[in-house]
Formats: sequence, structure tokens, C-alpha cells
Amino acid sequence: MNSDFLNQSIEFIKGVGPARSKLLSEELNLKTIKDLVDFYPYRYIDRSRFYSINEIPKNQSEVQIIGKIRSIRRTKVRYRDRLNCELYDDTGKIDLIWYRGFNWVEESLKINEDYVVYGKITWFGNKASIAHPEIKTKSNFNRNVPRRLHGIYSSTERLINEGVTQKYFIKIIYNLLNSIQDHIKENLSMSILNEFNLINRYKAIINIHLPESQELLSESIRRLKFEELFFNQLGFQLTRNDRVQKLNGFKFEKVGNNLNEFYKNSLPFELTGDQKKVIKEIRNDFRDGKQMNRLLQGDVGSGKTIVSLMVMLIAIDNGFQSCILAPTEILANQHFKSLSELLIDFDIKINLLTGSTKAKNRRFIHNDLLSGETNILVGTHAILEDIVKFKNLGLSIIDEQHRFGVAQRAKLWKKNNPPPHILVMTATPIPRTLAMSLYGDLDISSIKELPPGRITTKTVHKYDKNRLSVFKFLKDQIKKGRQVYLVYPLINESEKLDYKDLMDGYESIVREFPRPDYQVSIVHGKMNAKDKDYEMKRFIEKETQILVSTTVIEVGVNVPNASVMVIESAERFGLSQLHQLRGRVGRGNDESYCILMTKDKLSEDSKLRIETMVKVSDGFKLAEVDLKLRGPGDMLGTRQSGMLKFKLADIIYDTEILNNARNSAIKILKDDPRLNNKENLPIRNEISSSSNSKNLWRYIS
Ligand code: ADP
Ligand code: MG
Repeated sequence: MNSDFLNQSIEFIKGVGPARSKLLSEELNLKTIKDLVDFYPYRYIDRSRFYSINEIPKNQSEVQIIGKIRSIRRTKVRYRDRLNCELYDDTGKIDLIWYRGFNWVEESLKINEDYVVYGKITWFGNKASIAHPEIKTKSNFNRNVPRRLHGIYSSTERLINEGVTQKYFIKIIYNLLNSIQDHIKENLSMSILNEFNLINRYKAIINIHLPESQELLSESIRRLKFEELFFNQLGFQLTRNDRVQKLNGFKFEKVGNNLNEFYKNSLPFELTGDQKKVIKEIRNDFRDGKQMNRLLQGDVGSGKTIVSLMVMLIAIDNGFQSCILAPTEILANQHFKSLSELLIDFDIKINLLTGSTKAKNRRFIHNDLLSGETNILVGTHAILEDIVKFKNLGLSIIDEQHRFGVAQRAKLWKKNNPPPHILVMTATPIPRTLAMSLYGDLDISSIKELPPGRITTKTVHKYDKNRLSVFKFLKDQIKKGRQVYLVYPLINESEKLDYKDLMDGYESIVREFPRPDYQVSIVHGKMNAKDKDYEMKRFIEKETQILVSTTVIEVGVNVPNASVMVIESAERFGLSQLHQLRGRVGRGNDESYCILMTKDKLSEDSKLRIETMVKVSDGFKLAEVDLKLRGPGDMLGTRQSGMLKFKLADIIYDTEILNNARNSAIKILKDDPRLNNKENLPIRNEISSSSNSKNLWRYIS
């Protein structure tokens, strides 16, 4: 694009002028010509086509129909007055409904006259209706309504009051677009346009604002979505290529004693095919002389720990230290314990460093890390502190990635030069599309296969009114020697109300399960780490049979004897979180249960979520559903989902476009890493001139 022209103020567009320009800038942040070109309508009205009643597509939101009214009558539905008109055409009937303005309808609408009706359609099963339609006699319609497909632009009350109407928007955009053909340059290469059958950029811009037809409108949208996702993915690929090129990584070429010994003598089970595959992928990364940045996704219980252990052994065999970072102390402790047990016969020194490590101990650990005495450091955020220095850190593993951000990854990078290899492990699988857009610069490995013999956790939904039968079931389980988790939603650990729920719940549990027959632990975020650990320990060591907690236990805790997970107010959790919690049970060889307790009345949405949990046990599948139900914002938290804000593209639904855009970004850079080929000039120009992609310029210039 010729940016000088596009950066001019909208003031100079025919029909705008200084006053309107100021108004548009204040209300909609529209300042430059480019702003206005990029200000796409948010929806469209199609007055160009008429539907027969029996062919109205179910996914059509607004329709236009010609028909005759057969009857007009007042009715009451659930105490609410309404007026019902039956409109017929040759193919069927539809109801027109009014909730007010009855007199006008009754006085002006005539039976058996031809009307043109336009409005938003609502379906009740196979019955369609339109509430408060726009309705005109056919002769009147022919005289007055522009029969076009046109866009609706977002507006504000102030703009409307000051006479900036939809008509006005369309007029100035029309004036603008007519005069700027030369300034809207193609930014994709011919081969991409041909391969994916995309229309050119100018045509797309014209048609997204002033569509000539539905077909051209959808082609325009597809083209512009492609462009958006293409430059997004190109950015990831350029960053990644740059990193791979500049950053050497440590080469771990040796397959040494520790790994061999472990494999032969200490591996407690046969690895699954997926575990082997992932270890191989990581070993390849270790050998190519570049820094590894890999995301390992695997459902709860899929066996990521053993994978992390084995790749740490490779690092040790090559003379390097490793560290493993967990989001909570409980989890760090657990990693420390299980690694120490698995490596008991090895001459490998493992240290644990968390917030509650005593100062004296800390000094020893710091020394051992520096001298190289320590081979593996397990810990929490405490590892990231600057005073924690290694002699030769070669591999950093981050467990449960969603609690750690990019900034933390960067801190690990700085702990050696070249930076250590990074393996990020997550038990919250995210759908491929999300992974591509969030971690487009990471390589991804997945463990989809669970270890053999795993019994699926039986999941049931119980309403509050069934509470007594649930308690009875818990007592039966405890009698069999099993343990029970009872989780309360503390969405925000500081919320007083949630906290009260938890304490009330705890008291009622203690009443229902009295001492000395039963012992109950409680763990929540307001307790200090020491008390928390004490209570957890009592549960782990089977001194207590019930653990009442908040989602503190969500991540990673492993108590194989616990066979029941009761989730209170389950309707308040998202699918991924419910699945995480469910993963706490089913770790032993016995039948295990997840009981989703909800209030008696549920919204449709909650019902769907709970039903999905009951039916689906695969975390990857649940993640897809979760994304569709809640959208990326709720699923990932706003911090991460901010990276997913696209103007047009929707990463939930535009999977195919995203895949194509990603593949072509990868392919283009493979053939032409700096975009020097003449054919890729449009792409290069876009990067150099558009403010969105300017930060990428340094990678190709
Ligand atoms: P996660 O991926 O959730 O971290 P873990 O590594 O904690 O899972 O493994 C869950 C359980 O499965 C552990 O008790 C572990 O010993 C066991 N496990 C892991 N891999 C296998 C395997 N290949 N065969 C049998 N059991 C396995
Ligand atoms: Mg784990």
C-alpha cells in the first residue's frame, strides 16, 4: 500500500470535512483513510433476494419474504399479550409477531394484500416466526426500498444524533473506494491467490464494504481472513526461523550410561508408542545443534513425567544440568519425590527449591548448582530468580505451561549461553488451531494414547437434591478403603462468597462424616504453604479419607488410592478445568468416579457442558468442545486470548483457512526465507509498510 496516501486524514474524503472528521475520530477512532478502509461492516442486510417460506435456510438470520396475511389475532403467551399474523406464500406459512403497537397493525394491515416482510427469523422446531418485522405493501416496496445487499457499520448514539447514519457511511465509503484503486495494493503472491482461489485485494475491499452479491461478499471475507491469518502465521515462522538461525543450542549427541541403565533396569513399565515417539522427537531436537522449543501436550495421566525424566537423563549423560519448573509447591514436591524414587539407584543429585526452602538450605543449593554437583533442580518460580545460577544448564522443563507466560520462558533462556533447550509440558491440551495461533513458534508433540489398562473414570451428574445418596455412596467407598476429593469452585481465591461456600461445605461434610470414623482434610488458597502441605500430607498418607479443597489440587497431584472426585457447583467450571479435576482420580487400578454436583436448575449452556463431561473422556476432544462453547477468552484467560484477536478471522471456525495460511507461510519461507523473489514482492512490501507487520521487517531486510 502507498502509506502516505492512506495515512492522510479522513477529513479530505468527499463528504467528510473537519467537523465530521473530528466526530468520527472521537467516537470510532477513525482518523486516517486507512482506518476507514479497514472499518468493515459488522453485518449485512440482504434486500436483494426473496425467500419462499419453505426454503428459508435454518442458519439464515434475516430474511425477506413476499406473502399474504390470512389472519390477525391477539393472543396471550405466558401472561404476555401479543399479536399474531399468519403470513402465507405458495409454499408455506410463517408467523409475524408483535408485542406492542397492536392498534397500528390492526388498523393498517389488510388481509389478502401482498406484503414484503423483512426481519430476523426465530425458529421453534420447524416453526418459523419474525417478531416486529419491517412490513410494506408490495407496491410501496417497489417504489422505496433500495434492493441491495449492504453492510451495517457500528455506530454510537452520538453519531446517530449528529446525523451520521448508515446511509452516510455507505456514501463516504463509496466516495473513498472509487478514488483509491491505485493505493490498495495486492499483498499476496500470485501463486497463493491461484492456489487458494482468492480474489484480489482491491476487489475484496470493495466487496466487503459494498458487496455486489452474497457470493462476492463471502469470497471477499474469505480472502481477507486468509490475508490476516497468513501474516499472523508468517510472523510466527519468521520469528521461529530467526531464532533457529541465530541461536545455537547445545548438542546432546551421546546416548550414555544413565539413560541406558534406566531403560534396562529401572523403567517400571513398557513405554507407550506415543511416549516413545515423543522421546524420539526430542532426541532429534537435541542433536541438530539448535535450541529446542517444544510444547508437549498430553492428557492427565498420559505419562509425561517419565518422558521428562528420560530426556533429563540424556542431558545429564551429555554433561549438562536440567531443571523442572512446577506451578505450585505441592506439585514441585511431588515431582521431587517421584524423581528421587525413580532414580534411587543412580548417582544423580536432585535438589528441591521452592518459596519455603530455608535460607541456609538455599545457600547450599545455590552452591551445588554452581559447582555442578546438582544434576537436576526441581522447583517453583523460585528457580527463576536471578541469584539461582547453574554451572551448565542444558534443559529446562516447564510443567503445566498455562500458568507460565512468555516472560518466564525468557528468564530460563538467560540461565545459560547458548540458552538451554526448553520443553513445555501441558495437561490441558489445546485445540490445534489455538496452539498454532498461540504457540506458533513452538514445535508441538502430543501424547494421545493413555498407558494400557487404564479404567475410564465413570462420570455422573447429580443434582443438589440427590445429595444424600451421594453421601451414602462416599461412605461405601470409604468403607472399601478408598479416599475422596471434594472440590469447591473458588474461581477467585479472594472472593468472600466463594470462601464462605467452601467453609460451609467443609462444616457440613464434617457433620456428615464425623470423627472418629472419618477424618477430613481441608486445603485452600488462603492457608499458608506449611499448613497446606501438612493437610495434603495427611491425605496422601491416608490419615484422612476426605480432602475438601479448592482448585489448588487441580494441577498434578497424584494420590492413586483416591477413587472419587466430587465437584461442587460443577456448572461454574469450564470443561478443561473439570477434566483436569477428574484426572486426579483413576490413577490406580480400581474403578473410579467423578461426581458432578450442580444446582437443580441449570442453564442450557451449563447442561450441555455437564452432559459433555459425562459422555466424553478424551481431553483433546473436550478441548475442542470447550473452545466452541466458551470461546478462547474464557478458555485461556484474557491475557493469552488477547493474542487471538483477529479483525475478521475466527480461529474456532476458520480452521481450514488457518491451516492453509499456515502451510503456505511455511512453504514460502522454505523456498525464499528472506522474501527476495520477485514473485513474493507483494508480501515483502506489505511487511515493510503495514504497521501490523512492521516488527517483522528486521527478519527479512
Ligand atoms: P501426567 O502426564 O499427567 O504427568 P504421569 O506422568 O503422572 O501423568 O503418569 C500417570 C501415571 O501413569 C503414573 O502413575 C505413571 O507411573 C503411569 N505411567 C506412565 N507411563 C506409563 C506406561 N507407559 N505404562 C504404564 N503406566 C504408566
Ligand atoms: Mg504431570
